[in-house]
Amino acid sequence: MPKYIFVTGGVVSSLGKGVSAASLGALLQSRGYSVHARKFDPYLNIDPGTMSPLQHGEVYVTNDGFETDLDLGYYERFLGVKLSRNDSVSGGRIYWDVLNAERRGDYLGSTVQMIPHVTNKIKEYIVSPTNTDFVICEIGGTVGDIEGKIFLESIRQFANDVGRKNVMFAHLTLAPYLEQSGELKTKPTQMSVRRLLENGIQADILFVRSPRMLTSDECAKIGMFCNLPAKNVITSMDVDNIYKIPLVYDAQHVFDIMAEHFGLPNATGDMSKIHKIENHLNADLPICTIGVVGKYFDIADAYKSLNEALFHSGIQNNVHVKIKKINAETVSDEDFADVDGILVPGGFGHRGIEGKIAAARYARENNIPYMGICLGMQVAVIEFMRDVVGDENANSTEFSKNCTPVIDIMSDCDREDMGGTLRLGAYPCDIKTGTLAEQIYGMQHISERHRHRYEVNIKYKDILEKNGMIISGISPDGKLPEMVEVPSHKFFIAGQFHPEFQSNPFNGHPMFNAFVAAAKKK
Ligand code: GLN
Repeated sequence: MPKYIFVTGGVVSSLGKGVSAASLGALLQSRGYSVHARKFDPYLNIDPGTMSPLQHGEVYVTNDGFETDLDLGYYERFLGVKLSRNDSVSGGRIYWDVLNAERRGDYLGSTVQMIPHVTNKIKEYIVSPTNTDFVICEIGGTVGDIEGKIFLESIRQFANDVGRKNVMFAHLTLAPYLEQSGELKTKPTQMSVRRLLENGIQADILFVRSPRMLTSDECAKIGMFCNLPAKNVITSMDVDNIYKIPLVYDAQHVFDIMAEHFGLPNATGDMSKIHKIENHLNADLPICTIGVVGKYFDIADAYKSLNEALFHSGIQNNVHVKIKKINAETVSDEDFADVDGILVPGGFGHRGIEGKIAAARYARENNIPYMGICLGMQVAVIEFMRDVVGDENANSTEFSKNCTPVIDIMSDCDREDMGGTLRLGAYPCDIKTGTLAEQIYGMQHISERHRHRYEVNIKYKDILEKNGMIISGISPDGKLPEMVEVPSHKFFIAGQFHPEFQSNPFNGHPMFNAFVAAAKKK
């Protein structure tokens, strides 16, 4: 049976529970343990796919095609694990399951109640099978939230069911700093821990977010009020990069505290992977400027995974990648004067589309490294059809009904396995030999994640290829173009998928690595 770590938060939201939880996982992994991560969100939406990116940042997509919030991305990147739809569970989904079971008669006429029916359902998701030593479960929201109460009740029961020694409760709080008096205040932390205790949960370890390290007196005071040893009061220091958090925790012996709790042998971890990132952040390196031509820049975290992937490939290429945000609705050629590479990311709707097409044109005509992601591949194909093949009317049927439909909904392909009308999740792609794509991936069969409705229309394959744009990746049934490239160009490649969802800071993603390498050369 795996051991479980539950991560809750108090005082305020956005303290970085996801990063803290992922960091605990990193410490365990560095000592050779395997780790799985799971997130429970008490809100009532059935899944995050339909939630506004204005509130939640990018929609992250798992291999199995589940649309989740971006915390799942932290887990996959930090821990190198592959998560699925059972690892992102909302309150809405729990109630949906319970009420559907009630309608089916599964409860055989008994009175359906929060305890045990809802709590049992939550516990079922907690124990959903994994082959790992540890499962880290983050409980979204803040202690005291009404919709979170039933989740706290469930994890309390769970600890009782499986034995208190098999479960650790980690709680993240805030110690605000009062400028005037120069004091770090511990009261909110005390209140938060008490709030948790009202639900029958005694925190085993505290992560106190603070602008500076807590003194030993402050730790002792918090420990005394909160019923735990001072050494289990850990400072979660503000840092300029999230990848430094595992090092901050390691320096405070967080693994030893977990080892003591779970009865594991003491061990020093190999943190060299994380140190490599830290060294990169501190190193004096050349700067490589990537122009990202998008339209969601005013939404915080809308391009989270993309920014991460560019950062990761900077590590691989020994450069600092600087992202130049270029607004697709106002873009002009001057915007590209100082960029080393042009990237057009995914997007929906016609707003800014002509600017993105112009960006692809500029990159192609001026031999500037180009990488297109999803919509960024579609605009590259439209541009090529218009300006090289000479069909001015080329477009996507997403934007124009009376056009040469070089991008279209491919109704003859099998879409039964797609969620809603979007093609979601991992799909295989066959790579053509002798192409840049093959050089990049070093293999002929790859799998990448999708989130789109439209496809490059296979009918135009011959005319595109005759004119110099090669379809270098295609679905195994030969119907859906997955990658295009222009071999006469220095570096011009695009994919119908989102490679950024599979990038991590330890290796980077091959496509991003190659793109940044080409930009570096420039
Ligand atoms: N809007 C395009 C489509 O639906 C591209 C989507 C995307 O870039 N993720 O196909």
